[in-house]
Amino acid sequence: MAKQGGWRPDPDLPEIAFAGRSNVGKSSLLNRLMRRKSFARVSNTPGRTREIHFFNVNKLFCLADLPGYGYAKISKARKAEWRPLIEGYLKDSPLLRGVVQLLDVRHDPTEDDLTMLDFLADLGVPTIFAVTKIDKLRKLEVKPRLETLSKFLGLDIDQIVPFSATTGLGRDELASALIDLLAL
Ligand code: GDP
Repeated sequence: MAKQGGWRPDPDLPEIAFAGRSNVGKSSLLNRLMRRKSFARVSNTPGRTREIHFFNVNKLFCLADLPGYGYAKISKARKAEWRPLIEGYLKDSPLLRGVVQLLDVRHDPTEDDLTMLDFLADLGVPTIFAVTKIDKLRKLEVKPRLETLSKFLGLDIDQIVPFSATTGLGRDELASALIDLLAL
């Protein structure tokens, strides 16, 4: 598995991108998914990554780790950089098979999340919704919260993969959803 900080490691591979706001748990999810401790760097300083990181995963597909958006303390100039970077990437990725959009189970989707979702819908990119940090809720709270989130987003509950990097919940479900996307 080769890590690349810059352009795609292999331009012929199908691609899956991971998106979400800063601190949503994207690095932790990627580490759990890839069964690596430090595949992606978990950060206590949200909003530091500005680039798209590409990884060749077992020569099977290219994983694009998009920079987290929406962190309040990022300067306006940095925020202004984000949109063209992501939009440019999404429009110019002929082998993109889908996007995994992350949402923190404890928070309602932000305006930035909704902008991203509109954008993905406009482009017609298949999207999987991974709802992170499920372990932060009590067991009985999980189902009603997922129902609320899916209603809010106008999704079917089965379009959502509940995930916890801490317990490993959802890891296998997400992996098979990715395989399905790649097989399309
Ligand atoms: P990123 O900015 O989206 O890459 O988020 P990180 O993976 O760096 O995680 C941000 C913070 O949330 C870190 O303190 C993580 O330890 C914590 N975190 C991430 N995923 C989980 C999870 O599933 N459960 C819990 N309890 N904490 C998590």
